Amino acid sequence: MNLILFGPPGAGKGTQADFLNKKYGFAKLSTGDMLRAAVAAGSPLGLQAKEIMAKGQLVSDDIMIGLIRARIQEPDCTKGFILDGFPRTVAQAEALDQMLMAEKKRLDHVIELQVNDSELTQRICGRFSCKKCTAGYHDTFKRPLKDGVCDECGSTEFSRREDDNASTVAKRLDAYHAQTAPLLPYYDKENVLISIDGMADIEIVTRQIEEIIGGAGKLAAN
Ligand code: ADP
Ligand code: ADP
Ligand code: ZN
Repeated sequence: MNLILFGPPGAGKGTQADFLNKKYGFAKLSTGDMLRAAVAAGSPLGLQAKEIMAKGQLVSDDIMIGLIRARIQEPDCTKGFILDGFPRTVAQAEALDQMLMAEKKRLDHVIELQVNDSELTQRICGRFSCKKCTAGYHDTFKRPLKDGVCDECGSTEFSRREDDNASTVAKRLDAYHAQTAPLLPYYDKENVLISIDGMADIEIVTRQIEEIIGGAGKLAAN
């Protein structure tokens, strides 16, 4: 099962991808996570990406396509993968189609999480994650069961993304509407696009996704 979770920043892609990864074993390929790891490591790619990300702009298609091309061939993708944050431009979508064809793989579903801009800003500005295991939380919508302690690993250290501030969020939403939303008609034409209500509670969104992946999801879990 190969999926794209599609939607603006803060829509809930990472939250849902983590759940699907844990339950079904599909690899989570988050380009945002990959870039942040490169920035933290101070690699040449990280140095290049750092400023672009701080400005809320998109890293070049060449870099992103290279990252995903290598990742899709890793053994943990054989059961399936979930793309989170890729593709973000038509050029990336076209490159992805070519890569999948070369690998004899295909996209089963592109699932769009629909959320309006004011809810997105609220979600992004309250987002934080566990420093140790990267589990995601929210000040209001997804607090750890015990305040200050990660549900998943028990760590007490959390971090917030530098680009999760109101001014960068506005730029990221602009980039989404201008460069990424045009992919919706692209995938609609390929007959793989399904849009769901991303405004609903986390568990309800999960249920909608599980309905879409249905039997194949259960198969992969065996
Ligand atoms: P969000 O989770 O808020 O949607 P991401 O973590 O996916 O944001 O991305 C953070 C930043 O990393 C983006 O603002 C952009 O600068 C860069 N980035 C991530 N994925 C891509 C991509 N596919 N193409 C270009 N830039 C990307
Ligand atoms: P994305 O990966 O699309 O940028 P995230 O999964 O990181 O989005 O979610 C953004 C923030 O909103 C996180 O703090 C997360 O806990 C919270 N969140 C995710 N889904 C929902 C939801 N359905 N309702 C309320 N808050 C949510
Ligand atoms: Zn943790």
